[in-house]
Order: sequence, then structure tokens, then C-alpha cells
Amino acid sequence: MPTLANNLSDTINRRIEKLPKSEIRSFSQKISQIPGIVKLTVGEPDLNTPDHIKQAAIDDINRDDSHYAPEAGKEEYLNAVSDYLKKSLGVYYNPKNEICATVGVSEALNVSFMAILNPGDKVIVPTPVWGVYFGIIKMAGGVPIEVDTSADNFILTAAHLAEVMENEGKGAKAVILTDPSNPTGRVYAKKDLKELAKVIVDYNLFALSDEIYAELIYAQKKHYSLTQIIPDRTILLSGLSKNFAMTGWRIGYIAAPKEIMQTISKINSFMITSVTDNVQIGAAEAIGHGEQDYIEARAIYERRLHIIQTGLEKNGFTMATPEGAFYIFAKIPSKFGTDDVAFATDLANKVKVGVIPGSYFGAGGQGFVRLSYASSEKCLRTAVERITTYVNEQL
Ligand code: PMP
Repeated sequence: MPTLANNLSDTINRRIEKLPKSEIRSFSQKISQIPGIVKLTVGEPDLNTPDHIKQAAIDDINRDDSHYAPEAGKEEYLNAVSDYLKKSLGVYYNPKNEICATVGVSEALNVSFMAILNPGDKVIVPTPVWGVYFGIIKMAGGVPIEVDTSADNFILTAAHLAEVMENEGKGAKAVILTDPSNPTGRVYAKKDLKELAKVIVDYNLFALSDEIYAELIYAQKKHYSLTQIIPDRTILLSGLSKNFAMTGWRIGYIAAPKEIMQTISKINSFMITSVTDNVQIGAAEAIGHGEQDYIEARAIYERRLHIIQTGLEKNGFTMATPEGAFYIFAKIPSKFGTDDVAFATDLANKVKVGVIPGSYFGAGGQGFVRLSYASSEKCLRTAVERITTYVNEQL
């Protein structure tokens, strides 16, 4: 097994070396060793990809569609995304030059930040947040500015953004919103977005809008997007991982004005050349004909949300109403203090329930834990029973 030659180990990229590894992943791996643990830690659907989507990809492979796809994506996929955005949000993106296929939203984020950031540019990141953003922004040479939204029920308000832009965020290039949010399940109302948009325009910011959970919104609440208000400065990022249970397919997209899309497409082609053919064809089938799939998934998640939310509330946990995605961000009952890492570790060791400490999601997460309800109802009921034992018996 080769080891790196001595004089080469000094030459590796220092900026990347300094980035910390994902705490969520290490914590999740650590508690996975506990026999019989019920893990509510993972951010991925337990459901499987619907059959018609799989079949479309299989048929595509059998047609020998196995050559480089066009750099921005296959026509079938780009057209399907364009139609979907028109239908779901009433916005038009030209499939010829305003949409680009990506390897999931993860790659879409990397490409988008590389396209807009110069070294040292600031990016406003409302927290608690999916922590991977920090690494991606730093890899692209940017500086994330954390904005704790816990005092506003985890919604970035226009007033708060304006205040940050006058202080630590002065001169920032962009703001990123996750709507619905991982980890809080919060959803921006149309009014919130309208007010935010004004500040975004006033300070001449790019708005990156991560809408990967857009179809998983409950209680008949509706999804709105900044692109309906300020399309000229919004970079919309989305994908199929969550809505269609397609995490392993690695497919997403970016929709943005053509001027920035030129740069985005250029970087995307340097990075990946093109997205896998059959994956794009499966994804075109999903977006084009899969409405029923996410309607069914939504009903399943909504039932699960009810089970876990009522279970937690009975045990003294409080939370800003979760409205979307498949996460609950719950405040630990005060008798357990505010050390969320200690609480989550103890809960795993004593009653075998795995949750993620809230502080891993950035400022404002201290004293909270994130629970994912992308697990079976049986698992969720078991978790609630065990949490009840833990809380009542103060183990
Ligand atoms: N954005 C958010 C908010 C997420 O929670 C995740 C996955 N956990 C991603 C992006 C990455 O998604 P993808 O599988 O499309 O790369």
C-alpha cells in the first residue's frame, strides 16, 4: 500500500485541509455501533424510488444511451424541469440556456458558489443550517457569515438581514436560504419572502435558494420561491433526492438567468462533463410524470410528523411548528440543561435512540436536537416510547 512521499505531504491544499469533517456524520457513525439503536439521524428517505422512474432508466440503458450527454443536460430532462417550474411556481426558465443538470444539489451548490464568489467574498448563512454549506462556501474561497435565526422561530426576517448587512455582513455577495429548512422544517411564507426580497435588492445580493424539499410541505401550506419575486438575482437549486426518494441517483438542477448560467455551465462541464444519461432520463420521468409519487410520500411523512411531534410534546419538548422536509428541531426540556451533545449521547447510550445535537447546525442550535422522521412509523413509535422512558425516569 503506497504512502505519500514525505516532501509531498507539505504541498496539499491547506484551505481544504483546515475544513472540519462533518460532525453529523461522525456522531451518527459513533452511535450506530450501539446494538438495537433506533436512528432518527439520517437525512434520507427510507422509501424506495418509484417503479416507473426505475423502468425509464432501465429502458434508456437498453437503448444503449451511453454516450456523453450535452454539457448542460439532456433535452428531455431540461424540458421536464422547465415545465415543472412553470407548473409549480409559475416561472419560466428557458431549457436551452437557463437550466443546468447537476450531480445532486450538493454539486449544484459547489458550482453556484464557484460561479459567484471571488476570494474573501462573504455569504450570509441563516442558521441553524445544513452544515455542508460552510465547507462548500469555504472551498469556493468565500467566508460564511452565520446569522442566528432562533429568536424568530428560525425564519430570517428582512429586518435581521438588513441589520447584518450593516454590520458583520457588510459588503456580502450573497445570501442562501433553505426553504423548507433542514434542520428546522420551517417554511417561508410569501410575505416573508417579499420582505426579504426588498432587502436583497437594496444590498445588491445574489439569492441562492435551496428548494430540495419543496414538495414536502404539510398542512396544505404552499411553497413559494424568491424566484417568483426577484428572478433576476435568484439562483434556484433543487433536486430529486428527497421528493422522489432518489438520493443515490445523484441528480439535481440549477435554474438561473442566462448571463450567470453561462459561467455556471462552464464550471459544471469542467467538473463533471455531463450528468449520467440514464439518470437524467429517469429523472425526466420523475419530474414529468411523478406528481402522484410525492403526493403519496407527503401523506406518509405527514402521518409520521404527527406521531413524533405529539410524542415529543407530551414529553416536554417544544418546537417552532415543523411545516416541511422531514425533520423536527426540538428544544430539549429545561430539566436536562442545554448541552445538546451530552443529551444526545446520553439518550443514545441509555435508551438507544439516535438524534443529532442541534449545535452541529450552527449558531442558535444549542439546546436543541434534530430528529428525522424519514423512518417507519414502527421505528418512530419505538423511539417515542423510549424517549418517554428516558424523560420520565430521568435515567
Ligand atoms: N440541501 C439540503 C438542505 C440538504 O438537506 C441536502 C441533503 N441532506 C442537500 C442539499 C444535498 O442533496 P443532494 O442529494 O441533492 O446532493
